[in-house]
Amino acid sequence: MSDAPEVLPEIREQCKELMLSGHQIHQIMDRLLEDIKLGLGKESHAKAIVKCFVTYVQDLPNGKEQGKFLALDLGGTNFRVLIIELEGEKFHMDPKIYAIPQSIMLGSGIQLFDHIAECLANFMKEHQIAHLRLPLGFTFSFPLTQKGLTKGILERWTKGFNCSGCVGQDVVQLLKDALARRNDVQIDVCGILNDTTGTLMSCAWKNHNCRIGLIVGTGSNACYVEKVENAELFDGDTTKPYVLINTEWGAFGDNGRLDIVRTEYDREIDQYSINKGKQLFEKMISGMYMGELVRLVLVKFTKSNLLFGGRGSDLLFKRGNFFTKYVSEIESDKRGNYTNCRQVLEELGLNHATDQDCSNVRFICECVSRRAAHLVSAVVATLIDKMDEENVTVGIDGSVYRFHPRFHDLMVEKISELVKPGIKFDLMLSHDGSGRRAALVAAVATRER
Ligand code: BGC
Ligand code: MG
Repeated sequence: MSDAPEVLPEIREQCKELMLSGHQIHQIMDRLLEDIKLGLGKESHAKAIVKCFVTYVQDLPNGKEQGKFLALDLGGTNFRVLIIELEGEKFHMDPKIYAIPQSIMLGSGIQLFDHIAECLANFMKEHQIAHLRLPLGFTFSFPLTQKGLTKGILERWTKGFNCSGCVGQDVVQLLKDALARRNDVQIDVCGILNDTTGTLMSCAWKNHNCRIGLIVGTGSNACYVEKVENAELFDGDTTKPYVLINTEWGAFGDNGRLDIVRTEYDREIDQYSINKGKQLFEKMISGMYMGELVRLVLVKFTKSNLLFGGRGSDLLFKRGNFFTKYVSEIESDKRGNYTNCRQVLEELGLNHATDQDCSNVRFICECVSRRAAHLVSAVVATLIDKMDEENVTVGIDGSVYRFHPRFHDLMVEKISELVKPGIKFDLMLSHDGSGRRAALVAAVATRER
């Protein structure tokens, strides 16, 4: 195929544990389906691992929504505040990104919500809308038990967040309290939603077959359209046929059911994470961990003399130093060309890497990203099969899906193999990012009043 140096046979052999067999994938699908049913069930929900929270979102946008809305988006790499004007098919949005320093991500809830309120107030002043009382949609991408469209109790923090005093609290109230402490702007929170829900809503706006919203970014999760009768805990409007379910599948495996595929690298990632024992599935997939997984494999092979002539570097040996974007960059090199790969290795002080090393490094990246794509495919196929519709569009967002050169193709290939025969599906990138999403929820919610 090319004149690239062959991957070392020992490396190939030892990376086999990162490849999922058909049997393992089917086991994962069966287990996930069982866990989803436990999450949906009235009696089983409390102990369930995959929570399948009901969202109270029952209507998808119809493209006729209009008005001016504010939106907050918290939970990915960036915190965003936006103002959006919807006018039927047209929309205009003005987003602004704010940093959340790590001291706040790991500080107190009061500090976090004061910071959010401050960003929001500054944003409204800059846009000269501080005197208006605008509807606001809040995209809050963490597990919530919803008590309605505007009330959500935080179940746990995930990803890089761990603020004290928030778990068990209604986060909408925490936001309102912070705004009340400032007392300089007024807003009307119309809905709080997960990023998966927002992704589904914004894709459904254009594509009426959209039934799943998926995120493969800093974290990973999906929501889907479920029949109201299957959502046993749902106490909203049961005259409507459907409700969106936020699966929170990132927690899949927290009770050991993924141990059939977890490796020493996965155990080490977990060991050094800020939420040990939690979100084990997410830790095998998402952008917060993918680069670090690769780094752990590289370190192991360096120490056993299979890479870099046995000579690593301080940078390589330091946790968190191999960014997930490196995986995308390295795999974006044409086969047999190592331009990006060399650049990454140089950034890590590995100037002595040979072509052989580059070929091995690329192979390791491919093993880790392919495993992630296959795990995501298994869970998406489980949802598609469960819904039992002929034609399903999956709306997707997140940095891994967006920037990895092969993730989409790997998913299409694997999901085709896994879904029941006769089912058609599409994977659609959510183009507007988190922009219009929260506004759409606010819009759909106000439509109902
Ligand atoms: C959170 C989910 C979120 C996902 C993607 C996970 O860590 O628990 O609520 O949808 O990340 O952002
Ligand atoms: Mg996001």
